[in-house]
Amino acid sequence: MCQVEEEYHGPLLREELPSVSRQCVKCKEASAAVVIRAGDAYCRGCFKEYFIHKFRAMLGKNRLIFPGEKVLLAVSGGPSSCSMLSQVQEGLSQNAHKKLRFLPGIVYIDEGGAVGQSVEHRRRTVEELRAVFRATGFPFLMVPLEQVLDLPSSVVLSAPGAPEQEAGAYKAAVDHFLLSDGSSGVTAGQQQETPPPEVQEAHTHSLQRLLGSARTLTAREELLNILRQHLLVHTARSAGYSKLMLGDSCTRLAVKLLSSISLGRGAQLAHDTGFSDSRYGDTILVRPMRDYSAKEIAYYNRMFSVPSVFTAGLDTKTADKSSIQHLTESFVIKLQADFPSTVSTIYRTSEKLQSCKGSASAEGDRCLLCVCALDTAAENASAFSATLISEQLSQTKSPGESRQAPEWTAPASQCCSIVGGELCGNRGGGCCSSAKASESPPLRSLLCYSCQLTIKDMSSEEVLPQYILSEAERRLRRSQLREEIRDFLLEDEADEG
Ligand SMILES: [Zn+2]
Ligand SMILES: [Zn+2]
Repeated sequence: MCQVEEEYHGPLLREELPSVSRQCVKCKEASAAVVIRAGDAYCRGCFKEYFIHKFRAMLGKNRLIFPGEKVLLAVSGGPSSCSMLSQVQEGLSQNAHKKLRFLPGIVYIDEGGAVGQSVEHRRRTVEELRAVFRATGFPFLMVPLEQVLDLPSSVVLSAPGAPEQEAGAYKAAVDHFLLSDGSSGVTAGQQQETPPPEVQEAHTHSLQRLLGSARTLTAREELLNILRQHLLVHTARSAGYSKLMLGDSCTRLAVKLLSSISLGRGAQLAHDTGFSDSRYGDTILVRPMRDYSAKEIAYYNRMFSVPSVFTAGLDTKTADKSSIQHLTESFVIKLQADFPSTVSTIYRTSEKLQSCKGSASAEGDRCLLCVCALDTAAENASAFSATLISEQLSQTKSPGESRQAPEWTAPASQCCSIVGGELCGNRGGGCCSSAKASESPPLRSLLCYSCQLTIKDMSSEEVLPQYILSEAERRLRRSQLREEIRDFLLEDEADEG
């Protein structure tokens, strides 16, 4: 209710430039240099303090990163992740009491191949970022996205994590750390200068074929997000990092929250937007920038000369309506301009979400792509079952057809798809599009609702990377085996009866 008032006054105050006479609300001495929200005018010094404090407070509140732990910072070159990098640098340079106590490293994923950049263009971007990373003194890795094609299947498995830490464990670890001379061992480690691996042209082509097989930009972006995350997690795992820091700002998370809902990822929201994300088990994803708006970050970066490097994404220079994600983004940005408090309300919602503690202990209960617990066993009132029913109905159009099976459990006796509003008429064997699918249970049965939609938008599943396909095969074989065993057990029981 009070928001109406905020909305009314908000835009007026927001546009007001800090005049020379206006004072900082914090120290009440210096003149204001930046207005973050209506009424919150800070001087340069207080803004810096506020910004730095927020980062430490976010990490301190969550107590997830232990002293001496190896933490990999995923830096894309954008303002938010570069700001995160500068905050970690800042935190490590503080005096002992306030000092951050983990061991940072940096990873950059070069996605130039996915967006069709020339080799030369990619080399330039990598060089620019290398200069930024070198200046931090942290070890860093530059990984071309093409490497995702060579990942092992283990990346889509949730590895057992560290045993649950007791409540006092964090404090004990800090105390122990301080006793054992906190200054030693917290140096950033040797900076490695491993040259980025050569990218083979054939690999770039396969990657482009893979992303190009998505018929919509929405699906392409989802696919890219999934591949990027797999590569990040694998890089963290193989280099011995147990935490992966992502630079998502509050604005980015508001976009993610709304677009995730539109994409049918409601069940995974807590993982996708929360402070920490433990879907991969041993490697925890953390989002320490989630309290900063894109605007605050832009101000800070400009005032304190935090370098960032522009890299084009899939939706750069596309129309607003080109994808669900892009449309949501422009919606949120417009919302931010006119009703700033609404955006933080969206984002605060994400703080309250909890992932349903489902029984996703077995690998078969997790989505093959996004590694979240499968939501496809949901009750009747879900979007998923509505989709199933409508697919079922559209297939049983002609009288006399069997009315049982949805498309992806399609028996060989029934055609799977509709050609020009009619069933294609082919029964048994040579059906038009899913003759293959009727031989073995399809890949889609291993995916969550949202990832099913993404795969459905692809012209071919066969272009998926080998690590996904072979893991799919393994899981399908296993479930087949389980099915056979179950039959055997039932028979056994019947005999006894
Ligand atoms: Zn001040
Ligand atoms: Zn999924």
